[in-house]
Amino acid sequence: MMIDLGMPSKRPRVSRQVMVGGVPVGGGAPVSVQSMTTTPTHDVDATLQQIAELTAAGCQIVRVAVPTHDDADALPEIARKSQIPVIADIHFQPRYVFAAIDAGCAAVRVNPGNIKKFDDRVAEIARAASAAGVPIRIGVNAGSLDPRLLAKYGRATPEALVESALWECSLFEEHGFLDMKISVKHHDPVVMVAAYRQLAARCDYPLHLGVTEAGPLMQGTVKSAVAFGVLLAEGVGDTIRVSLSAPPVEEVKVGIGILESLGLRQRKLEIVSCPSCGRAQVDVYRLAEEVSAGLEDFPFPLRVAVMGCVVNGPGEAREADLGVASGNGKGQIFVKGEVVRTVPESRIVETLIDEALRLAGESAAD
Ligand code: SF4
Repeated sequence: MMIDLGMPSKRPRVSRQVMVGGVPVGGGAPVSVQSMTTTPTHDVDATLQQIAELTAAGCQIVRVAVPTHDDADALPEIARKSQIPVIADIHFQPRYVFAAIDAGCAAVRVNPGNIKKFDDRVAEIARAASAAGVPIRIGVNAGSLDPRLLAKYGRATPEALVESALWECSLFEEHGFLDMKISVKHHDPVVMVAAYRQLAARCDYPLHLGVTEAGPLMQGTVKSAVAFGVLLAEGVGDTIRVSLSAPPVEEVKVGIGILESLGLRQRKLEIVSCPSCGRAQVDVYRLAEEVSAGLEDFPFPLRVAVMGCVVNGPGEAREADLGVASGNGKGQIFVKGEVVRTVPESRIVETLIDEALRLAGESAAD
């Protein structure tokens, strides 16, 4: 059962919508999950391979870096062969914006802080993007804030990030171009949340959420989950990218997990497992890990309770689709609230997986 946090049907901020290829962003569309490739973009095979892995993990939009001419040259093939929309990430070189649009990229990300002579070319970019139906993300980042705003505010405050983004948007708006989404990323979730709140109150563009340079897997996951959780619960945010110093597939898994935890996406596999304690009569950690691994690609929503003793075990196991309540080196196996058998600890995992497959077979036959 999904918990209603007042989302997404009652989300208070309704932004305008842009289409990133076939993925709607904003305007009440489901929050989408993005990531970014780590391969050199000019290595087309490696980049397409990584995009395929990201797609398989559930990534809906992928961004590729375009730092060189060779990378720009690779964009047409990548955009054509990718299974999901490709966004070109452009810093420093406005001419690559045109290359990305010509290449068939689904969107372009520009960073107002470091696109040289960007302001002079806005009219041209707006015309080209508009003709191609390509949205632009104004991607402000604390680490590369426009020097003028750094001088004005002294550091990357929420106000500075928001002013930078809205200034750049205003340049496009002067040319009638509104097909934009915005990000204002900071490594500190508290600053990031403040920036996005301000931004959300001052415009109706769809917002791409990100805690930038969030750190390694554990730290980055916590920072992103906290910041996205606060904002998404307030209805702020239309697409997310978790930034981790870890393989990008991990970013996608974490992003999907955040949306599932907020009830913004139906969870496929949920393991309800206890932390174990001095009362545990089986190895709860091992059981939970093995059940998770064995059911990782399970195709239907499934809640499995893995509990270490009879204190909370029968209650949780009865509430789940499947469960085990353990005691004396044995496990009482529950299916849909009923005890179906008792097995020794060594057979708990295989029994739960067998029962899950049986339930999957019944669901498929329905
Ligand atoms: Fe401890 Fe039992 Fe609770 Fe697990 S279910 S944490 S073993 S009391």
